[in-house]
Amino acid sequence: MVKKEFKAESKRLLELMINSIYSQREVFLRELISNASDAIDKIYYQALTDDNLSFNKENYYIRVEADKENRTLKVIDTGIGMTKEELENNLGTIAKSGSLAFKDANELKDGYDIIGQFGVGFYAAFMVADVVTVESKAYGSDEAYKWESKGIDGYTITPVEKDQLGTTITLKIKENTDDENYDEFLEEYRLKAIIKKYSDFIRYPIKMDVTES
Ligand code: ADP
Ligand code: MG
Repeated sequence: MVKKEFKAESKRLLELMINSIYSQREVFLRELISNASDAIDKIYYQALTDDNLSFNKENYYIRVEADKENRTLKVIDTGIGMTKEELENNLGTIAKSGSLAFKDANELKDGYDIIGQFGVGFYAAFMVADVVTVESKAYGSDEAYKWESKGIDGYTITPVEKDQLGTTITLKIKENTDDENYDEFLEEYRLKAIIKKYSDFIRYPIKMDVTES
């Protein structure tokens, strides 16, 4: 008997998964903010054992920026960032959680703040965006890279200029259709309400800038 591996249509599977685990589109923001918070926790954790790094709380925050004119929503963090390999491994492999691996590697017990574990939250962004761009500079690296994907077909990774450590996620918010309205995800009051509803417990500051058109 020969045991065979299942084949999967990854694009179809991802769509199915996203649409069945999330009952509301708005939770995409919770997922991106929790990833940003995890990234800051990791640099905090790094600072505990790394003499080259001191953790000054003021330098660590999450920023949400909506730009109505360009239909972009950014979630920016000053956390640990991702190397080219990490972009590839963590965002190029569905259900791969760098955060779970981090908790295991550091033997972090339950109760530690890092939220991620299932390795799927990031893809919730595709519920509201047709292009997702991740620009990241990892702690300890001089280079920065850009991961980009248009609607889960695949992705590209290219070098990019970035001064600050951490990660900037840019969502190109979908155009409205006859049945669906996505404009709300560019509205300051809606974003504030979503953040309040799902991300109130995040222990780093969440700042918001809005570019009015
Ligand atoms: P989870 O958070 O459950 O691990 P996600 O799909 O939300 O799964 O994210 C996958 C992985 O991508 C994370 O575990 C982490 O390693 C990496 N990642 C995502 N967003 C960021 C970020 N802003 N900064 C650093 N790493 C990130
Ligand atoms: Mg996550």
